Amino acid sequence: MTTAQQTTDKQTIENTLRTLCKKEISQCTAEELYGGLLCLTQDMAAKRVSTEGKKKLYYISAEFLIGKLLSNNLINLGIFDQVKELLAQNGKSLSEIEEIEPEPSLGNGGLGRLAACFLDSIATLGLNGDGIGLNYHFGLFKQVFSNNLQQETPNPWMDNPSWLTKTEVSYPISFKNFTLNSRLYDIQVTGYNNRTNKLHLFDVESVDENLVSGDSITFDKENVPKNLTLFLYPDDSDEAGHLLRIYQQYFMVSNAARLILDECTAKGCNLYDLPDYAAIQINDTHPTMVIPELIRLLMERGMDMDSAIEVVSKTCAYTNHTILAEALEKWPISYLKQCVPQLVPIIEILDDRIRRRFENEEVAIIDRGDRVHMAHIDIHYGFAVNGVAALHTDILKNNELNAFYHLYPEKFSNKTNGITFRRWLLHCNPKLTALITELIGDGYRQDASQLEKLWEFQDDEKVLNRLMAIKKENKQALADYVQEKQGLVLDADSVFDIQVKRLHEYKRQQLNALYLIHEYLEIKRGKRPAAPVTAIFGAKAAPAYTIAKDIIHLILCLQELTENDPEVSPWLRVVMVENYNVTLAEKLIPACDISEQISLASKEASGTGNMKFMLNGAVTLGTDDGANVEIHELVGDENIYIFGDSSEEVIKRYHEASYCSKDYYEKDEELKEAVDFMISETMLEIGSKEHLVRLYNELLNKDWFMTFPDFKDYVKTKNQALTDHQDKKAWAKKMLKNISQAGYFSSDRTIEEYNRDIWKL
Ligand SMILES: *Cc1c(COP(=O)(O)O)cnc(C)c1O
Repeated sequence: MTTAQQTTDKQTIENTLRTLCKKEISQCTAEELYGGLLCLTQDMAAKRVSTEGKKKLYYISAEFLIGKLLSNNLINLGIFDQVKELLAQNGKSLSEIEEIEPEPSLGNGGLGRLAACFLDSIATLGLNGDGIGLNYHFGLFKQVFSNNLQQETPNPWMDNPSWLTKTEVSYPISFKNFTLNSRLYDIQVTGYNNRTNKLHLFDVESVDENLVSGDSITFDKENVPKNLTLFLYPDDSDEAGHLLRIYQQYFMVSNAARLILDECTAKGCNLYDLPDYAAIQINDTHPTMVIPELIRLLMERGMDMDSAIEVVSKTCAYTNHTILAEALEKWPISYLKQCVPQLVPIIEILDDRIRRRFENEEVAIIDRGDRVHMAHIDIHYGFAVNGVAALHTDILKNNELNAFYHLYPEKFSNKTNGITFRRWLLHCNPKLTALITELIGDGYRQDASQLEKLWEFQDDEKVLNRLMAIKKENKQALADYVQEKQGLVLDADSVFDIQVKRLHEYKRQQLNALYLIHEYLEIKRGKRPAAPVTAIFGAKAAPAYTIAKDIIHLILCLQELTENDPEVSPWLRVVMVENYNVTLAEKLIPACDISEQISLASKEASGTGNMKFMLNGAVTLGTDDGANVEIHELVGDENIYIFGDSSEEVIKRYHEASYCSKDYYEKDEELKEAVDFMISETMLEIGSKEHLVRLYNELLNKDWFMTFPDFKDYVKTKNQALTDHQDKKAWAKKMLKNISQAGYFSSDRTIEEYNRDIWKL
């Protein structure tokens, strides 16, 4: 018997837990049980740590939005059911114990959550690969609503006990004016019935949490030794914010580079053969400085520059996550000189070599404004570049990175994003999981394509009814939660239409809000929707992103408006849940009927929320954007609601600079009415004039993400979906189609592709 099997029986778990808590389980508090379970899982996971494999993947990312770990680890270690039963027998509930665990929000949204799903899949596939990032003391801010506005408060997560283990690893990291000693902390990454890998999080010994006081997330940005890892990257609206970001990035990659070189040399690597021992995946441009830093360290260890550049270029690969110009990092060289002058001569040489080879100014690393284009370093000095969905990769090749694609067509490939089904099905939706297992067995847990077998039940009325019943129970559970947390009473018989994701103009929560205003006005005119609807939002806005915060204000005002209007509220409710994070996502996604994925076509690189919803039986209402395109192809026209202008049309319109939002406003009576309502007397009584008028003007004079052209089609398509939802059997069939086609979006599939084409472990 293996050690894993020995600990799986309930008796052993009970004995271990009793020893760890030093009392009977029935006598323990939830806190004590949480501590005990944490130790128990850590011990079990440690037995599965493997040193196998010459070559190792290092996934470097500024964000790992891992979410709570207890249940996830219990599932992956194969003891979830036993623990749950054992606790129940002793009058304890696992969900109460889960409540105690703080969520480590070490990421902003999709990019960080992707990194967390990838780590899960890498371990689940038994691959030798660790994550490397930063140990932020405060995760993404906690969102609080007051006066219908977002307020940001600190979000600490390193309570005792915690998943972090302090290691012996420490490096002196030098900046221009000081040297900081790092300290490595590890979090175990358990694979589903497989090995345990690591998430390496580097911290600074001198960080001072006392810089954060009270309810505010502002702090002294100048004092880098005390604040470097204090927050997940801070407000970057001013120069101190930018500089701190550079300090963080260099600290992360210098530590990463040293750890990688140490681990590889310990395995017998002579550094010239580094590519045989390591693959480094650069998640977006944030870790780009690892390229010049590795070159520098290799030269310090005696390698000549030509060889160092060649070795590093064969080791690093880059993932692009966005085509939004403002998100592609370009650091003024003066900033780098102020923080990390040791990298500047290397970056200048890297640029010089490119300028000698290629005349095209567009592909230079340092532009005429003396700004360093981080993505250009990655593309020239990495061996692979990938986009994150088919459409996104096509846009990179044909538009955004076309000049680079001409130089290196062989470097480019697509790796459509995925999600881990352990968290986004097994854990978050146990009822659906049980039904699926009953119908097709549990092979789909390791081979997600087996979900297709569900389609055999397309005409089985009993199965379709059970699918609907499970959805209803999940909706009721969400309603109970929202009532407890926010005092709002939701009707689980209404259609739950959900848009949860970061607040950004390109994601177009404002388009959804305009629809809701339109429907509100229709109801006031006596024209009711096909079914009662509950429109649910969840979103954080970056603290310095004014318009995004105005959109939150608009939504919260609409919540108040519908809530207090007895004529409207039986038909239309607007609800914004506070502090959207992974934990909340796990409650919202299983309860969704209609999944809103309405970004402006061409702007959402992939999306992963869309995949989570589909897997849990929601039907997508979306534009042909990001991975929606692939969802559309998989489920067919009948099982998705697509609307709006195509990415080609949008790209063309931007290219011609021909868009004028007022033209649409003046031509479309219903649109005009909805836009005007934002600053009507009714709204100004509820909300703040400053915010509402600013948003109104923004839409009327700019509307950079083109909500107006898509408005009409959005209203029509959404109302069609609501009408279709009334035919329960037909709708349940759409749900089943979506679930049965979701296998492609398992991150296990994505990781197999990365490994096959890029890492080759
Ligand atoms: C999945 C996820 C996201 C990404 O959602 P998109 O709709 O793809 O933008 C963001 N935040 C959290 C908490 C998530 O779980």
